[in-house]
Amino acid sequence: MSKLLIENANIILTDKLSRNSAILINNGKISAIYSGGDKLPKNIDEVINANGSYLAPGFIDLHIHGLHNYLIDNGVDALESICKILPQYGVTGFLPTVCPLPKGKDAKFLGALAKVKSSGAQILGFHLEGPFLTLTGALPKEALGKADITRVKNLINAAKPYKAIFSIAPDFEKIEKLIPLMTKKNIPVFITHTKADAKQTLIAIELGACHATHFYDVFYPPADTDPGVRPCGAVEAILANENVSVDFILDGEHVDPITVKMALQCKGTDKVCLITDANIGAGLEPGKYKFGGEEISFAYKGAPARGTKKSRFPGCLYGSGLTMDKAMNNAVKMLDIDIVQAVKMASSNPAKVLGLNNKGKIQRGYDADIVIFDKKLDIVKTFVKGECCYEKI
Ligand SMILES: [Zn+2]
Repeated sequence: MSKLLIENANIILTDKLSRNSAILINNGKISAIYSGGDKLPKNIDEVINANGSYLAPGFIDLHIHGLHNYLIDNGVDALESICKILPQYGVTGFLPTVCPLPKGKDAKFLGALAKVKSSGAQILGFHLEGPFLTLTGALPKEALGKADITRVKNLINAAKPYKAIFSIAPDFEKIEKLIPLMTKKNIPVFITHTKADAKQTLIAIELGACHATHFYDVFYPPADTDPGVRPCGAVEAILANENVSVDFILDGEHVDPITVKMALQCKGTDKVCLITDANIGAGLEPGKYKFGGEEISFAYKGAPARGTKKSRFPGCLYGSGLTMDKAMNNAVKMLDIDIVQAVKMASSNPAKVLGLNNKGKIQRGYDADIVIFDKKLDIVKTFVKGECCYEKI
């Protein structure tokens, strides 16, 4: 692969902005970073002038079901299309999120997905939202399965060569028998869809659960035990624990920005991530979309999906219409943070959740997964391992 220099960029490093800088990409990796005033190398195959745009690590979405009329639950063709579309929103890596299916069918379906030959955004593992949850939210009833060691093993094998990343509820019966299997080889386990108390949550964390997905959403407080005393549940246990990271659907409706600010205060800047939880109509015009046998609607672009009268839960939340560029834009506006922090929440923080030490940063030796966006935060170009996968026309 040839040597590519991207110059005249405002580079977003992990903790600061480096103005009027350049990077050299060689063989799919970042091989050098030059600050303003440094002498730039010669004998370059291609030079791109970023014209003062931002250059940041590509976004990593830990929780996405679909977009542009494609849904991962519809199979391999949909997944391939999603990989190709995501770079236009700055995404270079993601966890395709799979809804639970009946036992047996689930491993078969996952096995088929794992054989996908994709180009575009990279699959970094499969996120299984169920079947070891205690509240369905908008998921099908199969989300509430039974503790089953063989089923866990079959799903882990089916996902190979990718990681199977399970979302679990700490109050799921016998979950303590399953988490050690799920976390073998340091694979993260996510917490969600739960009404666990603090004790149950701390046990799950002790066993290896290390991240909470769509935090606050479908996290119900446990029942009152002492009138006048606020019940302490999974939310409080997670906020108080330094080892657990969290992610949010920051579309303005799924969570109040105040609660995200609270998480930033508790967790610091390294352990809060942005996700989309995007559903089938994300990225498209507002309106109604078919979702399996149901119907959902988006009131405006980037709005949450809500069930229509032709759904099981009319008016209720069904994932989001967010895309990662929009989520980052919302973070700057709603959380009153700078672009460096917002990018961190969309790139290096999720990379850390996945234990990746070669992605999520503009750093020498890292994969050249890069997004360039202008001052309005519109995506201009996206590179995956040094290959241009999207260019705004
Ligand atoms: Zn989801």
